[in-house]
Amino acid sequence: MFFDTHAHINFKEFKDDGDKIVKKTLESGVCFINVGAEYKTSKRAIEYASRYTEGVFAAVGLHPSHIWIEEFFIEKYRELALNKKVVAIGEIGLDYYRIDKNQEKTKEKQKEIFKKQIELALELDKPIIIHCRDAHDDVLEILNSYFKIHKSKLRGIAHSFLGNYKQARKYRQMGFKIAFNGIITFARDYDKVILDTPIEDIVLETDCPYLTPVPYRGKRNEPLYVIEVAKKIAELKNLSLEKVAKETTKNAKKIFNL
Ligand SMILES: [Zn+2]
Repeated sequence: MFFDTHAHINFKEFKDDGDKIVKKTLESGVCFINVGAEYKTSKRAIEYASRYTEGVFAAVGLHPSHIWIEEFFIEKYRELALNKKVVAIGEIGLDYYRIDKNQEKTKEKQKEIFKKQIELALELDKPIIIHCRDAHDDVLEILNSYFKIHKSKLRGIAHSFLGNYKQARKYRQMGFKIAFNGIITFARDYDKVILDTPIEDIVLETDCPYLTPVPYRGKRNEPLYVIEVAKKIAELKNLSLEKVAKETTKNAKKIFNL
């Protein structure tokens, strides 16, 4: 059994065949979390999860790249997060990769909304799914300020981890798991952090429809392809595929309380 901790069947790329993909995924023994990036996709993540008795979960949150498109109202997200299918607040975080003008203003706004969502997660006792691009130092600083007070109540995963092994260690010291996806099948830049991170601290994801792994490059990504990510980790760490499947699924279930 495999657990894809970050999928977006709730995105428009799956509007015509989303449920077909979900059924195929579940029949193949893969569970997954549909992760929201704004109110609309967060709500849709819950709708998907509600149609299945097991194996499909939801996360709700406002992505840092959407903060100027949607005004953040915590009450709206709290209402969504109270649904029993919601296992995490996410994806939330900081993304400095694409911001151009008004850099400082955008960074400040992203930080403010990130903090509000961390506080929502703490209030509801849920883990967080962190999106971070080119902003690990700021994300770690914010997490640390909450970790000092809340300790293990603050928990979650660093999604699509693109940082270095030292940064990964800092997340792990605060109890966070590190999530890898298809990028590791076609870029060798992450081998070192994968080798440095014990399997007990790794979870798998696809981030579908994006980041399709080898050998499906060029096709739309989907949760089933999480197995390719597992194969690469098994190869790099010299572990059996069964061991990687078992450990990463166990880690995901633990962090999301399933
Ligand atoms: Zn995502």
